[in-house]
Amino acid sequence: MPVDEAERYIIDSVHRGDQDAWREVIDRYQGRLVSFARRMLAERAEAEDLVQEAFLGLMRSLKSYDANRSLETYLFAILRNKITDHIRRRHKGQRQSLDQLELDDAPEEWIDTDTPSRYVAGREDVAMQRQTLVECLRSWVAQCRNGRRFQDLIVVEMLMVLGLRNKEVASDLGLTEPAVAGIKFRVLEQWRTLTGEAREKHDWQETDLAADSTVARIWREERISCLKRSTLGRHLLGALDDDWTDYAEFHVQFADCDYCQANIEDLRREDQDESDWRADLRERCFASSVGFLTHREE
Ligand SMILES: [Zn+2]
Repeated sequence: MPVDEAERYIIDSVHRGDQDAWREVIDRYQGRLVSFARRMLAERAEAEDLVQEAFLGLMRSLKSYDANRSLETYLFAILRNKITDHIRRRHKGQRQSLDQLELDDAPEEWIDTDTPSRYVAGREDVAMQRQTLVECLRSWVAQCRNGRRFQDLIVVEMLMVLGLRNKEVASDLGLTEPAVAGIKFRVLEQWRTLTGEAREKHDWQETDLAADSTVARIWREERISCLKRSTLGRHLLGALDDDWTDYAEFHVQFADCDYCQANIEDLRREDQDESDWRADLRERCFASSVGFLTHREE
């Protein structure tokens, strides 16, 4: 998996206590995070508060963040947890205390990447370490895209993200049910080949392709099939070819991907936005978290 070199460099700088680098991280991600939070929260102020907490969470859990993994996905995961907690507390009529804010900054699925996370360990059918699985799935997605096998990708997403049955997939795509079963069979074979070389083996079963499987959960949490922001930008400009456009429309609209939609909303706003809320929010996020950065430097 190619690692975003620029991103790794900037995180290294943050580790060394570089304030400009930390500002740049906030600047780079705050817009898409606010858009993501706004999809679940009506009040802009609430969304901004939680984004501020998410950056604080990143700073506090920087030690457990593995720079080989996507910073964007990590930030989305922290924010998603904060939003879930926030909504849960609001329903219970509780106010969040500062103590509660300190808890669980690193999302569970990101803790201790050398051992399978708790829920994976609890499932005997998945004996493979999460990261190996993630790498295999990501390289499969890349192979599909390079080989223009978009239909396989769409079928997998319909099963694992949308939770559709073979019959529903077949009728939505104008295929026969045996054709869908054939695609599933082929996909599992490809996954077997990809994990065959890996240190951690996985015994692939058809049930892995169902939305309630651990593999499907990892697929969603790790945003395995999400489009790069640059690809989404080209999609907005109508610069993708037909196959890519169909796939992007499927993933963003039909599969209703909150993360990609947040990125698209933010990209749209970037061009039109005249207000200086970005600078205001960046400075607020910076001010609330820079104490942890300075502490590192000492
Ligand atoms: Zn997505």
